[in-house]
Amino acid sequence: MTRYDVIIVGARVAGASLAIRLGQMGKQVLVLDKVAFPSDTLSTHQLSHLEHLDALNVRDRVEELGLREIRRMRTYIGRSFTDGEREAATVIPGRAAFDSLLMDEALTYDSVTFHQNRQVRNLIYEEETVVGVETVDKKGNIQAYRADLVVGADGRNSTIARETEARMYDHQPAERPVFYGYYEGVTPLPDPTVEIFLEEGRIGFVFPMQEGMDCLGLEIHSSEFRTFAKNPQQEFENVFARMYGMEDRMKGAVLRGKVVGTPGVPNFFREPYGKGWALIGDAAHSKDPSTGLGMNDAIWQALLLAEVIRNIEEGASFEEEMEEFHKRRDEALKPSYDMTLDYIQTLRTWTDEELEAFRKWASNPLLVKSHVPVLTDMFRQ
Ligand SMILES: Cc1cc2nc3c(=O)[nH]c(=O)nc-3n(C[C@H](O)[C@H](O)[C@H](O)COP(=O)(O)OP(=O)(O)OC[C@H]3O[C@@H](n4cnc5c(N)ncnc54)[C@H](O)[C@@H]3O)c2cc1C
Repeated sequence: MTRYDVIIVGARVAGASLAIRLGQMGKQVLVLDKVAFPSDTLSTHQLSHLEHLDALNVRDRVEELGLREIRRMRTYIGRSFTDGEREAATVIPGRAAFDSLLMDEALTYDSVTFHQNRQVRNLIYEEETVVGVETVDKKGNIQAYRADLVVGADGRNSTIARETEARMYDHQPAERPVFYGYYEGVTPLPDPTVEIFLEEGRIGFVFPMQEGMDCLGLEIHSSEFRTFAKNPQQEFENVFARMYGMEDRMKGAVLRGKVVGTPGVPNFFREPYGKGWALIGDAAHSKDPSTGLGMNDAIWQALLLAEVIRNIEEGASFEEEMEEFHKRRDEALKPSYDMTLDYIQTLRTWTDEELEAFRKWASNPLLVKSHVPVLTDMFRQ
């Protein structure tokens, strides 16, 4: 049985990022995924921490996708909006292309091996320690691999989490269905801008990708899911037409592909390690996509775990390092997790008084003092 330093299960943002870092360290790494790449996945694409692209040495590859770097953000409430510079630039890469380019980078390191169409179905244990995985391919062939560490980067329905019975905590069930599609020819704003529409308790998103191509997204009420699922394009465009200015801006626009969606994404943390195993990415921590943080957080966890693996290699204790990894992860990700839960739970239909307060404030931010109480209540209730 071939033996590796690390087996990574799942080859998208979390798994591929870890493979790159471990490849840079010269580690013998096996990456396994049950699908063949390039492969799409249900996810939009806001990527805000561009410094991660440098750490992963993929900024050039991402630039070759021809994406615009977006430095502005506009938020609409009713028929008013605020518009300003973002704290950091964002790019919106399609997942099939982005996930593949990460794996391409990982495979520039001789010590990284990638087996596609290989589903992990069991873990191999020696006493209580995970020492390997058993995989099955499309033809039913079974193969086992051994490693010092098995990392589950296999998404929110993680097999590694299930097999290790990783404890879940701070769990909140999925609340909001999400649909999205790619539209060519939406009338653009003068500068590429991420647009967010808070309207009738729904959230609309315009994510500019390449020139002339946008990803449009919608978070809707859970009661609307069935109707949307029956006729996604029509329902999607009907709702979008009610967002400020979008009816006119979408007149010449053409949907490329289909409008796709999910009834929602669950919110949770999982204990991210045990003897011989660790979890990163959505397998370890998942949240509603309205705040567009999942990929960023997945990459960040991969970078952090790579650091920990280096420390262990240099003689630090596995248990102490992993305990610290768990602590640092929760400290870093809990605030944005709480913010995301707040965001989805407080969205609702605004009262006329609130809309009027926002309109006055958006048209004259110097009124901030007199309007803060109403604006704060709007987002808090
Ligand atoms: C509708 C929607 C919109 C989103 N929008 C954004 C956004 O704008 N910005 C953002 O940052 N995040 C967004 N997210 C979240 C983002 O998609 C996830 O956080 C991110 O994909 C997590 O990456 P990952 O690598 O951890 O897992 P995944 O992307 O889920 O990848 C897991 C991989 O593991 C493989 N796998 C699973 N089980 C096995 C197995 N047993 N054996 C072998 N392989 C296996 C799968 O085939 C898959 O390739 C969105 C999510 C959704 C659903």
